[in-house]
Amino acid sequence: MLDYVGLEADLGEEERLIRDTAREFVDERVRPDIGDHFQAGTFPTELIEEMGEMGFYAPNLDGYGLANVSETAYGILMQELEACDSGLRSMASVQGALVMYPIHAYGSDDQKERWLPALGEGEAVGCFGLTEPDHGSNPAAMETTARRDGDAYVLDGSKTWITNAPIADVAVVWARDESGGRGDAGNSDRSDDAPVRGFLVETDRDGVTTNEIDDKLSLRASVTGEISLQGVRVPETNVLPGVSGMKGPLSCLTQARFGIAWGAVGAARDCFEQARAYAADRDQFGGPIARFQLQQEKLAEMATQITTAQLLAYRLAELKERGDLTPQHVSMAKRNNVRTARDQSRVAREMLGGNGITTDYSPMRHMANMETVYTYEGTHDIHTLVLGEDLTGIAAYE
Ligand SMILES: Cc1cc2nc3c(=O)[nH]c(=O)nc-3n(C[C@H](O)[C@H](O)[C@H](O)COP(=O)(O)OP(=O)(O)OC[C@H]3O[C@@H](n4cnc5c(N)ncnc54)[C@H](O)[C@@H]3O)c2cc1C
Repeated sequence: MLDYVGLEADLGEEERLIRDTAREFVDERVRPDIGDHFQAGTFPTELIEEMGEMGFYAPNLDGYGLANVSETAYGILMQELEACDSGLRSMASVQGALVMYPIHAYGSDDQKERWLPALGEGEAVGCFGLTEPDHGSNPAAMETTARRDGDAYVLDGSKTWITNAPIADVAVVWARDESGGRGDAGNSDRSDDAPVRGFLVETDRDGVTTNEIDDKLSLRASVTGEISLQGVRVPETNVLPGVSGMKGPLSCLTQARFGIAWGAVGAARDCFEQARAYAADRDQFGGPIARFQLQQEKLAEMATQITTAQLLAYRLAELKERGDLTPQHVSMAKRNNVRTARDQSRVAREMLGGNGITTDYSPMRHMANMETVYTYEGTHDIHTLVLGEDLTGIAAYE
């Protein structure tokens, strides 16, 4: 397994254990069928509880039966899951970083008691509803509303491209609370009288429908859907009490993007390993193609890019551990590491010749998945603008 500058030699016992457990789980339980799931457009839902039993959901959080492992251990877990498929890592990322994290960070004691153990064990599935049909890169312009009615809120709006929505028990829905009367919210989050709030919406409530988006050509081994909310009543106790404004959803995305920065390294590494093994095995012109300088250049470049991405991911975990990680650091790593995986999966596919376009080999599946990973959780362009603003002090979004 590519670890060119020996980063894994410095791992602690817990981190090695998580790495080995995740690798074994993936090899035995997921890898044999993942190509079939990708072709069928299905997620292996029978593994959701098993992943919970293995401690794959939010193991970096504490309390409520959660493991409180190091950020490096969490990152390694994401890396090993995505080395199999981005759909598998997305399952763990959404459940852990986008659903359990906001409940853990901003939820009431009752909300934590009710949801964290169930989500952690995989007995319940969660989803994160931020994106809307007309508002993706600029979620602050969201149109989904919540209005106070007695001791309840009434939600109206629609969310789309929501991972796990069709199989979720609970959705974390971000909506503008217009109970104070809607001001001129415009495209920003300036309005104080319609702040963005998080609502825990059980998906079996009247007025909630979740349709599956089934024509994807990327992230096929993952369930994606829409959430329609029509006059959905939720008790006021379902509001996340600890946060108001875009800080709520954006802070969750920082957690999830940290996992993506690590996960992308796993996908790229898997492509590299497949290409290296294939090059050693495949004979043309009287010997293995690995003896050709053209193929060696591809492997050398791939290994260098992956190692650079690995270093960034490890450093990110150190910064997160000591509380110095900024959203801009995460933007740089998400942007760089996903681009690396996207580019290198294509090179790996090329090295596999015609065989490389089948589901028998992983690079083309990873390559298709990377189109989603490059786009979700902030597109590559948006992270470029985040860095541009941080480096110049000038925002260039509008
Ligand atoms: C498979 C999948 C799963 C997803 N899961 C979830 C989920 O669980 N929850 C959730 O809330 N969302 C989810 N998303 C949505 C995802 O986060 C959005 O697709 C993403 O934020 C981009 O929004 P958009 O698709 O509306 O594209 P747009 O915002 O319309 O962007 C279109 C293009 O314009 C570019 N662009 C936009 N603004 C600018 C600008 N200011 N300057 C330069 N270029 C710009 C973008 O980079 C992009 O190339 C998922 C998406 C996919 C594909």
